Order: sequence, then C-alpha cells, then structure tokens
Amino acid sequence: MKRSLIFLFLVLLMACKATNRSPIAEEIDIANFSNATIIGDHMNFLASDALRGRDTGSEGIDLAASFIIDKLEENGIASYYKAYQDTLSNYESTAYNIVGVLEGNDPSLKEEVILVGAHYDHIGVIKSQNGDSIANGANDNASGTATVLELARYFAKARTNKRTMLFALFSAEEKGLKGSVHLAEKMKEDGVNLYAVLNFEMTGAPMTDKEYLVYATGFNKSNIGTVSNAYADENIVGFLPTAEGYNLFLRSDNYPFYEVFKIPAHTFSTFDFTNFDHYHKVGDEPGIMDFSHMASVVNKMIPVVQGITNASTKEIVLN
Ligand SMILES: [Zn+2]
Repeated sequence: MKRSLIFLFLVLLMACKATNRSPIAEEIDIANFSNATIIGDHMNFLASDALRGRDTGSEGIDLAASFIIDKLEENGIASYYKAYQDTLSNYESTAYNIVGVLEGNDPSLKEEVILVGAHYDHIGVIKSQNGDSIANGANDNASGTATVLELARYFAKARTNKRTMLFALFSAEEKGLKGSVHLAEKMKEDGVNLYAVLNFEMTGAPMTDKEYLVYATGFNKSNIGTVSNAYADENIVGFLPTAEGYNLFLRSDNYPFYEVFKIPAHTFSTFDFTNFDHYHKVGDEPGIMDFSHMASVVNKMIPVVQGITNASTKEIVLN
C-alpha cells in the first residue's frame, strides 16, 4: 500500500512537471510571431526625424527611451534596477541604458543570466547633404533595438526561459561603447553570473549572396555558430570574413562583456559592407529598410535564443 502511494505521488509529480514545461509556448506561432507591420511601427518612430538622430544626451534620445520603456512595460518586462533607466557612470552628460529583466523559471538555472542587447543611440545631427542633416540611424541601430524589443515581447509572452534574461538597450555606443562598458563593470561588481551576451546590430538589410541569414562577430571565438544552427535546425548563423577583417568583434556592445567577464559575447548582424551605402550618413532612413527581413531575423532567432537560454549546461564555450 505504502509503496503504491509513493509510486502514485511520483507519477503525479512527473505529470505536473511535464505540463509545467511550457504551457503557452506551444500556442505561439514562432515562424510568424514578428511581422513587417510591428517592425515598421518601431522603426518609423525610432528613426523618425522627430528624434533627430538619437544623439546621446539629446532630447531626441529621451523620446526613444520613453518609447522603449513603454514597450517593455506593456509586455510585462520588469525593470532590472530600481528604474528602467540606468545612468552611465562613465559619461560627462546625462545618458542612460535601459535594462529590463525576465526572471528565469528554473530554480537553479535562473541564477545564470543571458543578456540580449542592442544600442539605441546614434550620432544625431551631422553635416547637411541636400538639405538633410539628420542621421536617422535606422539600420544603425533602430534595427537592433526593434529586434531586441520583439525578442522581449516573445519571451514575456512565452515565459519559457529557464535562465534569467536581461534585455539591455545601450546608450553612448557611438561615443566609444560607453553604455556597455558601464553595464559590464556594474554587473561584474554585483557578482552577476552572466553566461552569454547576444547583441544585435544593423539587421535592416538582407545579405543577398550568403548561405546564412546573419553572421556572428567573433564567430571563431566560440562554438556560437554550431550551437545556434542546431537550435535553428538550419544554417542561419555564419562566418563573414569581412567582419573579421574589420575587427567588428571589438566594435560593438558585445565586446566589453567579453573583456570584463571572459564569456561568449557576440553581435549578430546582416550588414556585410555591400548591402547598405548609408553607414553614419543622413540617408540611413527607415524607408530603405526591409521590415520583412527584420521580422524574419527575429522569428528565426527565437528558437536559437530560447535553446541557449534553456540548455541544461553552459554549452556555448570559448575556444
Ligand atoms: Zn551601431
């Protein structure tokens, strides 16, 4: 009698665990989760002339920040610190990152943190060209910002994440990675168990002649490609030799986390130096961005980010 009761208890416990796994996730149509309309709405606001190029410390970037915070709040992403805004300790005027958190649902894995990030600042108003002086920064990096907001919206809805996820939008990237340096050092001081950083930059235009959808900077520094493509079940993350040639690994917000924590930290991008002519120019406008492509990057990256976030071990390792 006693033995059969214990058996019954175990069966019930297992059944509970099985149904607990991801009750909502299976109802989400991941392949069509994001779309060109939602991406377009984000892009048309973040890269509009009204925001005047989102220069760090400007009124324009404050409008971008309010928009980002509204979206995080709307989707039930809590602020990581006391407020969503985390003021930079290493910048002369007032600048702040925006950091949201989605706590992990596994009692032990939730102590480990995955950071999904993008910079939301740009270079502001520059030398006039044909009467236009606003560097809108649609590709650089309203696109990465929109990508992170969409990934945040997915994970807030799915609630599948076993590890804790941070969604960080960095300021002052264009002033020398100031926002990410600040956050990396602060998290290190706090003793955060940071596992990996997945950063997004310039995903607004597709690469046309490649066998993969995005490339990862620092591709050969870890097994990020192998791990990502296994979760995607297709070849979506590749190695772009030009990115290595220009040392892009060192040139975006992934790098300070690699430096400070010595962990896998990569930037995903679709800017290949041939598919976009308006880098840091006034022509970097939302009208020339491919919103469907951007939505596809979000949707195809969801299983990758989800797989990495939920794996039982820290499977991405530095070479
Ligand atoms: Zn950028």
